[in-house]
Amino acid sequence: MSGRHFLQIPGPTNVPDRVLRAIAQPTIDHRGPAFAPLAREALDGLRDVFKTSGSVVIYPSSGTGAWEASLVNTLSPDDKVLMFETGHFATLWRNMAQRLGLDVQFVPGDWRHGVDPEAVESMLRDDHNHAIKAVAVVHNETSTGVTSRIAEVRRAMDRAGHPALLLVDTISSLGSIDYRHDEWRVDVSIGCSQKGLMLPPGLGLNAISDNALAASASARLPRAYWDWAPMIADNASGFFPYTPATNLLYGLREAIAMLREEGLDRVFARHGRHAEATRRAVRAWGFELTCRNADEYSSSLTAVMIPDGHDADALRRIILERFDLSLGTGLGKLKGKTFRIGHLGDFNDLMLAGTLSGVEMGLAAARVPFRRGGVLAALDYLSGSD
Ligand SMILES: *Cc1c(COP(=O)(O)O)cnc(C)c1O
Repeated sequence: MSGRHFLQIPGPTNVPDRVLRAIAQPTIDHRGPAFAPLAREALDGLRDVFKTSGSVVIYPSSGTGAWEASLVNTLSPDDKVLMFETGHFATLWRNMAQRLGLDVQFVPGDWRHGVDPEAVESMLRDDHNHAIKAVAVVHNETSTGVTSRIAEVRRAMDRAGHPALLLVDTISSLGSIDYRHDEWRVDVSIGCSQKGLMLPPGLGLNAISDNALAASASARLPRAYWDWAPMIADNASGFFPYTPATNLLYGLREAIAMLREEGLDRVFARHGRHAEATRRAVRAWGFELTCRNADEYSSSLTAVMIPDGHDADALRRIILERFDLSLGTGLGKLKGKTFRIGHLGDFNDLMLAGTLSGVEMGLAAARVPFRRGGVLAALDYLSGSD
């Protein structure tokens, strides 16, 4: 196929040419003098992105590794953890917590809503002897396009006067949707490279509060590779306890420079605008959004319910074959029922126009019943004539 592939899954996202060029440098000695300034710039830059003045660690790992790090550094066997079934990623994180020997209370959900702050408050109020050691929330549930309101979850925890740690998966929101580690007093924020940070896969991230650091001193889950202590100790002088993903750090430095040049607030506004244009297209086609609450719409992706009797993966296959456009599959319970349009990372109006055009042409080719005019509704919004 000629022309560029359209990678519009909600991660990995398109890697900008600037970042690709930054990665294409000779790998250097990670224990030599040239390395420390690179590590320091990357760590300082990440502090700005997480909005924290505290510790940040970078693992050579996927996001799943950073999940594991958040749990094994703060908790002990049989500790009670409150988690919420917002979708596929929340379910995978729950599975991991159980396999690590934690006692998870998993609040059921319908995969169309975010975490209910009132439910958090009442469950914590009922936990009189403070058995719950952590509340773990996925900020942006990438399987459903639903964004939970972390500031409100924090306020709910405060109202309940409960000392549990707050762990937040910000993997598909960091660098795309407003996020404030310090202001929201999150204890561990979990991120990774291949979504809003516009990098290839391979970096797992934790931002860590002082409370979480204090908890790690007595936490007893076994940890070795993921142990924060040697990371933070070596990072202080710009080094790592084992080989870091040097070339991805070049890319990270460049990606952070791009986010700074645009300005985080403008980055968030751009994502919000593309999400709104996408929702207008979906409604004009006559389809339902997976997300039910307008105050939980995701800015980084939109999950679309396909009419009954049609298979979202068959539609995706046709769109890939005909137009070289990759869309996100339905995950877990939503397999076949939903497809996901990623509009995060390095993205602009014409890329969205192309993406939505591919979907609209694909709907016709796949003979899924829809109303024409989705692309037009999005273009009218983007061009300011609506
Ligand atoms: C992508 C994603 C993950 C998993 O990250 P991996 O890099 O695939 O391990 C976890 N949580 C959320 C919300 C995600 O979007």
